Amino acid sequence: MIDLSNIAIIGSGPTSLYLLQNIWTHIDVFKNKIGKISIFEKDKILGFGMPYNPSNTDVFNMANISSEEIPKLQESFGDWLRSQNRELLTKFNISEFSIDDSEVYSRIALGYYFHEQFNQLLTAIKATGIEVNEHGDAEVIDLLQKKNGRILLTDSQHKKHTFSTVIIASGHLWKEKDNLKAGYFASPWPISKILPNEGTFYNFPVGILGASLSAFDVVTSLSHRHGEFVSVENKLKFLKHKEASNFKIVLHSAEGWLPHLQYEQQEPLREIYRHFSRRQLLDLIGDEGFLRIEDFFEKLCRPSLIAAFTKDNLLDVVEKLQQEAFSFKDLVTLMSEKHEYVNSFEGMKAEMITAKDSINNKIPIYWMETLDDLMYSLNYHSELLPAEDHIFLHKEIMPFLMNVIAALPLQSAEIFLALYDAKCIALKAGKVIFNDDSFENDKIKITVEFEKDGKKEMEYNLFINCGGQKSVELENFPFQSLVKQGSIRRATTNFATSTITDQLIKELDASKIMHDGDCTRLILSGIDIDSSYRTINENGTPNNSLYDINFTHTNGLRPYSYGLQACNATSLILVESWVSEIVEGENISNNIENITALYEENEEL
Ligand SMILES: Cc1cc2nc3c(=O)[nH]c(=O)nc-3n(C[C@H](O)[C@H](O)[C@H](O)COP(=O)(O)OP(=O)(O)OC[C@H]3O[C@@H](n4cnc5c(N)ncnc54)[C@H](O)[C@@H]3O)c2cc1C
Repeated sequence: MIDLSNIAIIGSGPTSLYLLQNIWTHIDVFKNKIGKISIFEKDKILGFGMPYNPSNTDVFNMANISSEEIPKLQESFGDWLRSQNRELLTKFNISEFSIDDSEVYSRIALGYYFHEQFNQLLTAIKATGIEVNEHGDAEVIDLLQKKNGRILLTDSQHKKHTFSTVIIASGHLWKEKDNLKAGYFASPWPISKILPNEGTFYNFPVGILGASLSAFDVVTSLSHRHGEFVSVENKLKFLKHKEASNFKIVLHSAEGWLPHLQYEQQEPLREIYRHFSRRQLLDLIGDEGFLRIEDFFEKLCRPSLIAAFTKDNLLDVVEKLQQEAFSFKDLVTLMSEKHEYVNSFEGMKAEMITAKDSINNKIPIYWMETLDDLMYSLNYHSELLPAEDHIFLHKEIMPFLMNVIAALPLQSAEIFLALYDAKCIALKAGKVIFNDDSFENDKIKITVEFEKDGKKEMEYNLFINCGGQKSVELENFPFQSLVKQGSIRRATTNFATSTITDQLIKELDASKIMHDGDCTRLILSGIDIDSSYRTINENGTPNNSLYDINFTHTNGLRPYSYGLQACNATSLILVESWVSEIVEGENISNNIENITALYEENEEL
């Protein structure tokens, strides 16, 4: 049975905020069940979240989500912005004061919005008689489950607290160490650390690993410190500062891709069963209990994608999709080729015309939106995929998907193209390798391996790794007592085929294979959870006292949980599981029929 009398939430970012919002939605059910909520936040101030916190982020860093795409809180982002004075909006780098719900704004503006929604929710919850304790500047450093099932929490001041239920919502973690002597930053966060001191310039090329949205943050923040952007005949131009004549940014990306651009959407919010019914999906589950990705593509994706590409008038793709032999991988290859240019900046210029047409004339790009919906749906059924399909998804599909969904706002793309026209940015395709001697001198040395033409050594005075966060495994799980006592375990999955081919074993890292008696299992990233985010212990028992809704801990079983919509969906599923247990006396995560019934019935999923 669940015991919500005394709950703790670790972290006060968007996931925590949406958890509170979803508790608030069912406050009639919870007001006599929840006695006390304690929120622990390592930052001094609660309610911002990592990417939106002014201590991490720069005013030039843009969100890639507009008000109409942000799941419901107490008031919408657009309405909140409209109620702020111009002075504050200017501080958020907003100069166009007629706020548009489909426009994107700075992440700092979003952070202050979240902070205020957080405070409003806490006030509302407190008013119902629930005690709420806010612990700022209180990093949780360990968790341990006591014999009586209660969770003992230790904070950074070594204070110990005991709770009936703990929810981990601790989000991003950037643990890798910088090497300042070699001019190497292991991540760009907080972004203030990579900026030159006021009045000084980086008068040399700066290397960046990755061409992701974080890399774009670095590009916008550094370029604003090395010159100014002016509008000439409706076109953005970059004028480099005279003391920074050698300033240039060199992006290193394995595939040599720049992200896709922001596009108009018909339905700004994702939906699990938009393109097919729950029953259609459940009918695909085979006798062994697996959902095969090829069946998912064939039966559920292909018809929706044909419809979407037809609406986009991409008839060459429609023709291919109509051929049975044209597989999911073929589609990814074809669409990647369409996005692959001899010169990616010239490609971005060409895509900019379509993207502007899409946004300005409100013409959706249906295939991108449909693909995002389909993958969002697959995400919430990923526990049904066998090992072979997890491998396929990660290797063949995810790099492309990440490039499509992490769409670049058009304002950021304009900055990019202005830098390109000013010859201040370059993109190098190839895999970056750090060697033993990479950090030995006062310049970092990297090796770039090209797909075709061998390799090349390069040196940088300053190199910023924007390759993203490392996956969280048991070894680097932040609350080690849980690992030691076996309260959590790795996420794993069975293979569908009993004989695993030598080819597959050769392709896999041996440390990813686990032998369990006669059974061979694939070790996925992160920890094991059930579908309502209860952690699973080493004996396979779900824990009613410990939930993990940190997407970086659970990305093996929920591989496509990105962004604010996932923050809401995750906490909503958890809260609905409590409601069902309290009202119906039933745990919905025990079988796929029940949890998918929730996905189908709830309008926000
Ligand atoms: C650079 C960047 C830009 C992004 N931009 C967007 C965007 O524009 N749109 C979008 O939809 N998504 C964006 N995302 C995705 C992002 O993951 C989510 O929007 C969101 O921030 C996730 O919220 P969270 O609460 O799970 O994690 P976080 O935002 O990381 O918040 C977690 C909170 O927990 C605290 N915390 C961590 N560990 C502890 C601990 N041990 N004890 C106490 N407190 C702790 C942290 O200080 C933080 O406040 C972006 C991500 C990054 C990295």
